[in-house]
Formats: sequence, structure tokens, C-alpha cells
Amino acid sequence: MPRAAILTTCKVSTPMDKYQKSRKDKLFKSHPFDPYATPLRPGGSARCPQCGAAYHEGEWHLHGPVGPGPVDATVCPACRRIEDRAAAGQVRISGRFLATHEQEIRQLIHHAEQQERQTHVLERLIAVDCKDDELLATTTGTHLANRIGHDLEAAYDGTCSYRYSDSEVYLSVDWHRD
Ligand SMILES: [Zn+2]
Repeated sequence: MPRAAILTTCKVSTPMDKYQKSRKDKLFKSHPFDPYATPLRPGGSARCPQCGAAYHEGEWHLHGPVGPGPVDATVCPACRRIEDRAAAGQVRISGRFLATHEQEIRQLIHHAEQQERQTHVLERLIAVDCKDDELLATTTGTHLANRIGHDLEAAYDGTCSYRYSDSEVYLSVDWHRD
């Protein structure tokens, strides 16, 4: 369970609902130490020339107006992470089930990306690589890795674990089914 995994790293003894709420608020904002955070002024506007994402009101959006002031062409953090292959999340898929369902699982991963991107435009797939009988999906954000794990569990059961790095900027998901 993802929440349980998160709580194991919690050193603060606050009530669970309060903690989860603050945690959720935090997750949906950029980390101040994220090296890929956009160094734009909150009032500025920009459009990513690579994916078309629009930056306004201090955040990146899938669509939306930019301006009325000058609009910068700025490569968004997700496109920069993809270029650098700098993942913020990964999903490792293993077990015998993969051999007979690889195509379906790949479709599920890409579908999860399309869904996640509707609300979190900076959540993208970097790559889905097959290696040593395992599939490894890397993502530009933790939300997408989290979503892929939950979608796999919902579609195929199996066992799944979620581990955040100490600084919570990286999520490792391991899904397994034989
Ligand atoms: Zn972009």
C-alpha cells in the first residue's frame, strides 16, 4: 500500500488524516531543491517549444492561455528530464506473467501516462525498457510511477511495493506476478 510505505518514512507524530493532507499538498508542488524546477517568475508566461505545455500563474499546464505579457520559449522540466534521462520515478515489472502479457502491460503504462498528463502535465514516461526478463518504466515524476503501480494492481493483482527516497523526490515501484 502506498500510504503505508509513505508512513514508514514519517518521523513526525501527527494524526494520519492531517499528515496525509499536508503530504498531498506538498506532493503537488515542486520541491524547492528540484534541479529541474522552472526558474521563472511567478507572474511570467512561457510555452515549451517541444511539447506545447504552457506556463502561467506559476505552474505548467497542458493547455491554457499565456500572456498577456511577453511569452518566453522555455523547455519545460519534463522535456528536460526526458532529454537528460533524469528519472524521478521508476516501475520495475517482473515475474512470469510479463512474458505472456508484455504488450498489454506496455499499453497500460502508456495509457496511465495519457491519463496522468491530463492533470499533471509534467508527468511523462522517459522510457520503457526490457532487460533481463524485466520491464523497467522510468518517469519524470513520482505521480506517474505511483499511478502505473496502482493501475497494474487494479488490472492484474500481483504484489506491489512503493519506496520513496529519503528526500521523497524519487519513487521506486516494484510490481511482480508469476
Ligand atoms: Zn515540454
